[in-house]
Amino acid sequence: MWRSRALLAALASLSLALGAAGSAQAGVGLPPVVSHVPTGEKVVFITIDDGWNHDPEAARILLEKRVPATLFLLPGATSYDTAYFTALTGKTGPGRATVENHTVSHPDLTTLDAAGKDAEVCGAREQLAATFGREPKLLRPPYMALNDDVRLAAKACGVKAVVTWTHDFTTWGGTPATPTLKAGDIVLLHFTPTLAADLQRALDAAKAAGLKPAPLMPHLRAAGLV
Ligand SMILES: [Zn+2]
Repeated sequence: MWRSRALLAALASLSLALGAAGSAQAGVGLPPVVSHVPTGEKVVFITIDDGWNHDPEAARILLEKRVPATLFLLPGATSYDTAYFTALTGKTGPGRATVENHTVSHPDLTTLDAAGKDAEVCGAREQLAATFGREPKLLRPPYMALNDDVRLAAKACGVKAVVTWTHDFTTWGGTPATPTLKAGDIVLLHFTPTLAADLQRALDAAKAAGLKPAPLMPHLRAAGLV
């Protein structure tokens, strides 16, 4: 009996604490969803998704310019050519990239039950940690498909923030118009055959705006988001 009373007391104080933190605010305690990082520094964030195409020219640019990119990789897209990616990360190679979570099989996470979400997000975390020597802390949900259940599942898999993007520089059919980048913007690229050209356009746009590519995690921390 004392156990259920203690539980009730704990729940009561929890709801008080939540109330004090921001009454009835949706998503309290869940990882934030970030499409732009508030910062006073002249930085921009280069993120590259999936991992299906392994273009040597794109890797050469990332390594030569020491771009601290954030790579949201699918374990299946890296497993048949792991060396391409291990070279890009500071943990396992000479590069400055960091590997983060993009699920195991790129589903719309909102359509899966709790066990399915867990298998996709925790499964990718385990596989990427085994390959790259570091547990991912950020999740990019495929198709930007997102709700509070996805954020809850992500939190249970160690995700500190859900990261979307400000501008997509990927050439999907036609080359997109190049936007004027602002400090804190998150640029989306993909490991496609046009990555080298898309990356170069993003780096040129950053330079034109007086911005430097920066690693995401330290700036999320500085902004108080993680
Ligand atoms: Zn993707």
